[in-house]
Amino acid sequence: MAKPKIAFYWCASCGGCEEAIVDLAEQILPVVEAVDIVFWPCAMDFKTRDIEQMANGSIAVAFINGAVRTSEQEHMAKLMRQKSGLVVAFGSCAGLGGIPALANLTSRKKIFEASYHDCPSVFNPDGVEPKTEVVVDGHKLTLPTFYETVYKLDDVITVDYYLPGCPPTTDIIVNAINAILEGKLPPKGAVLSPDKSLCSSCKLNDTKPDQVCIGPIKRIIDIIADPEKCFLTQGLICMGPATRDGCGALCIQGNMPCTGCFGPTDSCRDQGGKMISSLGGILEGEDRDSLQKATKGLVDPSGTFYRYSMSASLLGSARKEGE
Ligand code: SF4
Ligand code: SF4
Repeated sequence: MAKPKIAFYWCASCGGCEEAIVDLAEQILPVVEAVDIVFWPCAMDFKTRDIEQMANGSIAVAFINGAVRTSEQEHMAKLMRQKSGLVVAFGSCAGLGGIPALANLTSRKKIFEASYHDCPSVFNPDGVEPKTEVVVDGHKLTLPTFYETVYKLDDVITVDYYLPGCPPTTDIIVNAINAILEGKLPPKGAVLSPDKSLCSSCKLNDTKPDQVCIGPIKRIIDIIADPEKCFLTQGLICMGPATRDGCGALCIQGNMPCTGCFGPTDSCRDQGGKMISSLGGILEGEDRDSLQKATKGLVDPSGTFYRYSMSASLLGSARKEGE
């Protein structure tokens, strides 16, 4: 019997999700036995035409990581969708926009100014910027369009399942692949990780007093965090209350607060908004002055509350081309 075909593709991301596949180590061996990898440009020499020549729907599952920032990424996402039975948004960037989507706080114009003109290490006396089309020695060269907005994958194609994480952990990748191979998938649209908050499984949750009240917000570089005490109660922003469970509390185990990479639970519309709302109820201070003092240590609110979810947020998803 023919093995199911699977494909991997990489859009706007750092490459960590591709690394996560390699990190499966020997656990990848039974997967490779059970499936036929037909497209994985990061690891092997595949061409776009290899996919174009395949019949529609002939790939069982495509795992697409990364957000969508360029016309090429949108084109490839649509091509993979056309050729695949299932599409899995692999990792935070595909699911929610991820780190690349923090660029939605600025504009394409400002990004180009910084990257091609203002950065101290740039030498560009002619003020050249990339163009989508240019003729050199009679040959037309093209580049993808750099969009104004960073999109999450389901802004451009229908996504069947979501694997959260920056990157997804080995356990949830293996569980997802096994569920696919055994045909034991939940209803479409599901995030393949438990639908409860990280706090619910965090070993430090029991150290929270009944009434949490936190003083001035601190950064992890300001104090030596107590590894036996809930980070929030130490005045450190830990995104655990607004973040989906399933990573095994990896950062907490490393004495670092959660930064929220597993995204929100199903009932939460906006991960950053939920965390801000949680903080609102436990921050000490009742008037404007005392609250301003308490939040003075919060130097990067967007990067703190929306580090991985800007494309999915009520703030970041509102921007459109040309606005
Ligand atoms: S806030 Fe962070 S440290 Fe505290 S219980 Fe939740 S996940 Fe654990
Ligand atoms: S603790 Fe938070 S940031 Fe760290 S891996 Fe888990 S979900 Fe991601």
